[in-house]
Amino acid sequence: MEERTKIKFYSGTRTIGGTVISIEYRDERIILDFGLTVTAIGNIMKDIKSDYVRKYLDLGILPKIDGFYSEKDISDKVNIKPLEKSRKKTKVFISHIHLDHMHHIGLVDKSIDVYMSKESLELYNLLNNIGDKVIGDRGYSTISYDETIKFGDINITAFKVDHDIFGAVSYLVKTPDLTAVYSGDLRLNGNHSEWTFNMLEKVSKFKVNVLFLESTNVGSIIKDISCNKDKELQNAEKALIPKIIEEIKDEKATVFFNIYNRNIDRIIAFYEVAKKLGRKLVLELPTAYIASKLLGIKDFYVIEEKELNTNNEVIEVYNNSNKLSLDELSEGGCQYIIENSFSNILSLLDIKYEKAIYIHSNGMPLGDYDSNYNGMRDFLNRLCIEYKYIGASGHATPCDLKFIAEKIKADWFIPIHGFYPENLHVDSGIRFLPEEGKAYAFKDKSVDII
Ligand SMILES: [Zn+2]
Ligand SMILES: [Zn+2]
Repeated sequence: MEERTKIKFYSGTRTIGGTVISIEYRDERIILDFGLTVTAIGNIMKDIKSDYVRKYLDLGILPKIDGFYSEKDISDKVNIKPLEKSRKKTKVFISHIHLDHMHHIGLVDKSIDVYMSKESLELYNLLNNIGDKVIGDRGYSTISYDETIKFGDINITAFKVDHDIFGAVSYLVKTPDLTAVYSGDLRLNGNHSEWTFNMLEKVSKFKVNVLFLESTNVGSIIKDISCNKDKELQNAEKALIPKIIEEIKDEKATVFFNIYNRNIDRIIAFYEVAKKLGRKLVLELPTAYIASKLLGIKDFYVIEEKELNTNNEVIEVYNNSNKLSLDELSEGGCQYIIENSFSNILSLLDIKYEKAIYIHSNGMPLGDYDSNYNGMRDFLNRLCIEYKYIGASGHATPCDLKFIAEKIKADWFIPIHGFYPENLHVDSGIRFLPEEGKAYAFKDKSVDII
């Protein structure tokens, strides 16, 4: 029988994140992303401290992939073939290091290579140093931007794209009978839209058969997305700076802000806001460490700590930083703009203020689908701290998704990584909504379940 490329969707087709897709040809297989899908049992899982792979497989947290897990990690409850009994050779490729794309990479059997961009690995190592670790301990391989890795008859190339994290890529995957593009997460209205446009230029030179495109920002209502491209292409990340300044420039208030420190552009945004307002920027030590390592900036303050139990490199950044005590922050109030992440929210009880504002700028908890979100709002209310959401999405708008799909012009258009992929319609290719757990073979205008 003629050999065909098999594509299987394990998870993340109708959720924001947790995308796991395999593409295989003969005995080689690549797996695209290996992250976490948010589920109601999330908090219970945090208490699992051993035999992660077996327990996560039993709970259906890890995808049931044949020939991928070692025999010793598979229980009788799970009907999958162990890797020791499979001819299949696998490599895993991560698009970027948001948890929904990489939370489980440390659990991949050590005999399988896991790739990510060099920049992703650089950030991953910094996050490890600040204790922001994923489960499991193993080594990783890197792929450079525009580099192609050959794996049997599969060729995979990484293209840099703009997303609200350092090091994000889309992948182009070519087999003898199929060319596929996996977008990862991306946007056209951030600070580096040229990266995404360059990726589009490069991949659109190929005759792409299948496009897997994220659809995070597609909502529950079908909207007319024949929108004005010029207006849409305004830089939403850059527009945040004047927006934040406008909100607080006349305020005699202590200002706190909550960001996700993997978003380097957002650290820069608050750095610029502080400069323009003449306030001193006060960072939590993990963010200060990332800012000093990746951005080389030093003119920030950190909060004085009595005791530090962290990596030596982080301690060095602390020792070389300007420090402020909680008393100084209480006295100086409106001279500062102070980072406060959710994990540190109790420290707001130790800072005095007459008036305070909390700018929530895409830090955790991201929205009311996270049970901590209402807790955060309630906590701030009780302390009479005014909450303001001022953020920008790391994901393409529906209009930009349509533009991206129509530029790539794949035969098959497969929206994934969103709650409402069925609401994204584009004028290019046949739209296909795959079922999780099924494997497909695509050819021109036909698809077979295999
Ligand atoms: Zn994602
Ligand atoms: Zn992401």
